[in-house]
Amino acid sequence: MAKYVFVTGGVCSGLGKGITASSIALLLKAKGYKVFMQKFDPYMNVDPGTMSPIQHGEVFVTADGCETDLDLGHYERFIDEELNYTSNITNGKIYSSVIEKERIGDFLGATIQIVPHISNEIKNKIYEAGTSSGADIVITEIGGTVGDIESAVMMESLRQFRLETGIENSLFVHTTLVPYLFGSNELKTKPTQNSIIELRRLGIQPDIIVTRAPIDLGEAVKKKISLFGSIPPENIIEAKDVNNIYQIPLNFHRQHIEDIILKQFGLKVTKSNLEHWENLIKTVESLDKEIEISLVGKYTELEDAYLSVKEALKAAGYKYNTKVNIKWVNSEELEDKNCNFKEVFKNSKGIIVPGGFGSRGIEGMIKACEYARVNKIPYLGICLGMQIAVIEFARHVCGIADASSREFNELCPNPVIDLMADQKAVINKGGTLRLGNYRCSITKGTLAYKDYKSEEILERHRHRYEFNNNYKEILASKGMIFSGVNPESNLVEIIELPNHPHFIACQFHPEFKSRPTKAHPLFDSFIKASIENKK
Ligand code: GLN
Repeated sequence: MAKYVFVTGGVCSGLGKGITASSIALLLKAKGYKVFMQKFDPYMNVDPGTMSPIQHGEVFVTADGCETDLDLGHYERFIDEELNYTSNITNGKIYSSVIEKERIGDFLGATIQIVPHISNEIKNKIYEAGTSSGADIVITEIGGTVGDIESAVMMESLRQFRLETGIENSLFVHTTLVPYLFGSNELKTKPTQNSIIELRRLGIQPDIIVTRAPIDLGEAVKKKISLFGSIPPENIIEAKDVNNIYQIPLNFHRQHIEDIILKQFGLKVTKSNLEHWENLIKTVESLDKEIEISLVGKYTELEDAYLSVKEALKAAGYKYNTKVNIKWVNSEELEDKNCNFKEVFKNSKGIIVPGGFGSRGIEGMIKACEYARVNKIPYLGICLGMQIAVIEFARHVCGIADASSREFNELCPNPVIDLMADQKAVINKGGTLRLGNYRCSITKGTLAYKDYKSEEILERHRHRYEFNNNYKEILASKGMIFSGVNPESNLVEIIELPNHPHFIACQFHPEFKSRPTKAHPLFDSFIKASIENKK
């Protein structure tokens, strides 16, 4: 049976629970153990797919097509393992599954209750993560803050889980805040004490406490938390503020968090292999060049809405010893007829248009794309960014002035981007996009082939609309190259333009497969071309 580490959070949200969970997983993997990760989100949505990115941040997509919380992106980037449908469980998923079973008659005769029916369902999902992944250790993060009404049943399930599996098979990590008070100039432990009391009220005693603080705790503060928390001082792991989140695993490693976990589980404390991560930190800390890239989008007020794109750009920069500074350009502002494009993009060496939904801000993106095409600025279009490039090219190069997407104008006379028959039949909005891995065949001799060095790739998708193949001939006759196509459906996956230093766009989301230690080929070549752009 797998061993389980649960990561809960206290005091307030935003303490870096996801990074804590990812760091623990990375360190256990570095010891040679097979790890798997899971996140429980206490909201009632079945998945975050229908939520606004401005509220919730990006929706991360797994290879098998699950729309998940953005923390799963951190998990994959830290542990470099593909996660799946068992990795993101929400209250919505749990409740709908229990109600569905009740309707089928699985519980005939019984009154369905939070305990045991909902709590059993939650525990089953935890066990399933272990059995289906075959991992030695599963790390499960519980979203929200201890004491929230929403997560109460999840906490209750963890209490029961410990009772069933014992201390040698389950371990609780609780992350809290130790604030610093200016004036009296001291760290305060009371919020941490209270949060541990809250956790105990739910029947859970933490085994490790991770304290987020702006400075070192010092012996006295540590002793106090140890006494009130009823855990040895060495089990208090300091998560001091850092400039770069990739530093955190190494900070935890210095405090032996993984050894404490392995000892409690009765597993062998082997030697760590962290060379790849130490090299990453060395690179990040010695970047000697800088470059500005404009990201033109409609959710730019929240950087988290583009988290994986941001990380993928940074990772590609690392390869060239270059710090990528993103200029966040709200596409609606480009729609103003007095907008000075030269001024907006004056320091940018490349323009990226990432994913998005709905018609707001679209015309601004088309203008940014036109500016990149005409002025020969490297362009990378992702999903919506490819659809924008197609519309722009159809309108301004092929003379189809009313070209658009059926998404923005249902009655559009020239839908160069359209709904395919299978999507026309769809009624429910949730979970019905084209999701997850699809194959793409790449034509030799193209920019895409130069990037991937392969004739066949697999990339993750999340969209409803597609390039309309009825327009392929006319666009091709004006120079657009369709360098990537799905071999089964013939749907267009990658387009590019010749006679331009670097103009490429894809229907899928390459950012989900980028790793800090492994730049994604499309981001790699885009950053390389942007660095070479001397304009
Ligand atoms: N809105 C577009 C579609 O649904 C693009 C989606 C995206 O960029 N992820 O096809």
